[in-house]
Parts: sequence; C-alpha cells; structure tokens
Amino acid sequence: MSSEIGEVDVLRQQVQYYRARATEYDDWFLRLGRYDRGEDATRRWFEQVEEVRHALRGCPLDGKNVLELASGTGIWTEELSNRAAHLTAVDASSEMIALNRERLGGRVERVTFIEADLFEWAPTREFDAVVFCFWISHIPVRRIDEFLTSVAKMLVPGGTVFFLDARKEHTGTAADHVLPSSDEEVMTRRLDDGREFTIIKNFWNAAALEDKCRRVGLDIRIHETADYFQFGVGTRR
Ligand code: SAM
Repeated sequence: MSSEIGEVDVLRQQVQYYRARATEYDDWFLRLGRYDRGEDATRRWFEQVEEVRHALRGCPLDGKNVLELASGTGIWTEELSNRAAHLTAVDASSEMIALNRERLGGRVERVTFIEADLFEWAPTREFDAVVFCFWISHIPVRRIDEFLTSVAKMLVPGGTVFFLDARKEHTGTAADHVLPSSDEEVMTRRLDDGREFTIIKNFWNAAALEDKCRRVGLDIRIHETADYFQFGVGTRR
C-alpha cells in the first residue's frame, strides 16, 4: 500500500467514513449533488444499473438463505429481501444499518442484521448464496485471497456468488474525488461538509480476479458494463 498511514488505520478510517457518510450515501447512487456528472452520464449510469439488476434477477436466490456483506443503506438489500427466504446482512456501520432497516419497512422481518467488522467476522453456518456490492474494491490487495477463501467457506457446495463493483471511470465518483493511480490502492474521499478520509479503492482486472476466485474454488464469470460497473456471477465448486 503506498500511503503515509498504515493499513489498519486506513481500514479504521474506511469504517468512520461510511458511518459519517451514511445519510448522504445514496446521492452517489442517485447521481445527485457532487455525483451529478451531467445528463448523459446519468442516463448511461442508470442504463447500466439496469443491466446489473437484470443479471442479479437471473441468479437463483428465490427462497434461499442469502448472506449480504457490506449491506449499506440497502440499495441491494431491498431486492435480496424480496427474494430470499431469509437474508443475513452484515455491515460495520450502525448508521448504515438503521437506514437500511428504514428502507425495508415490513420486509425487515425477513432480514437479520449483524453489525460487525468483515475483516474479523465469520458466520457460524453456510449460506445458499453470498452477495457483496461495492465491497470487494475496499479490500486491500494483500487480503483479497483470504477474503475470497472466506466467501467460499460461507457457501454450500454449488452455492451462488454475486458481486458488483465500480469500473475505473472518473464520472462514477464525485467531481471533487481523484481516483487512485494504477500503483496505488488508497484514495481520499470527501463528505459534503468537506471532511476528508483515506480509504482503500482497488479496481480489479477481470481476468486476474476470475483466476483468484478459481484458485479458492469459486467459478466466477466477471462481466463489465460499458462504463461503470464490473460484476461477477458464479458458484462454489
Ligand atoms: N453494498 C452497499 C451498496 O452497494 O450500496 C454499500 C456499499 S458501501 C461502498 C461499503 C459498505 O461497507 C458501507 O456500508 C460500510 O459501512 C461498509 N464497511 C466498511 N468497512 C467495513 C468493515 N470493515 N466491515 C464491515 N462493513 C464495512
């Protein structure tokens, strides 16, 4: 990691950042304020969100026991909770969990929320599917093999994996954010009030990540939309 501060401090700041950002988080997904990069970019963004949603709808999640890692404000929890027999959602931020619960309304009964640090947490049971959206990019490169191994362990044989993250496209983030260069894995993120945090942000080469998944028993096919998203769909061998 090329940063003046160590990995443990960055991971701590990453949690603080998302806790502080919780109430303004959805502006990014909805392309509002600093994330509004013009009409054309917004149109392309939502067209590509639709492609991703279509792929997620094609995954066998109906009536299954599903685990969502880093569930955030619930942008994806909403759909998962509609389809799963039961959903377990893990996030380190109580602020994010509170907003997620609010979004789910009555569906919250089908969801167990766990407030935990994903670099320490491990489930006590296996799941039919594991889903993580905009999480894999926040894992330090040196911890990625460990993370993928843990995902394989969380799944029953034949279980489903779906993940989604950002492609390296500057209009995907806020106008005042600079994406890390190819030899860096940290970037500075700003909140609307100007507070700054250093976080991990990695953009994976699809083939390299598929290979890493394969080595730990996850057969994943990674797809990319035209500008904004990279998503992986597959199964535990
Ligand atoms: N999945 C949601 C989505 O797609 O909108 C949220 C993704 S957001 C980019 C990253 C999430 O990871 C935040 O909700 C944040 O609170 C959570 N997070 C950050 N560090 C974490 C950690 N160490 N353990 C668990 N969750 C963490």
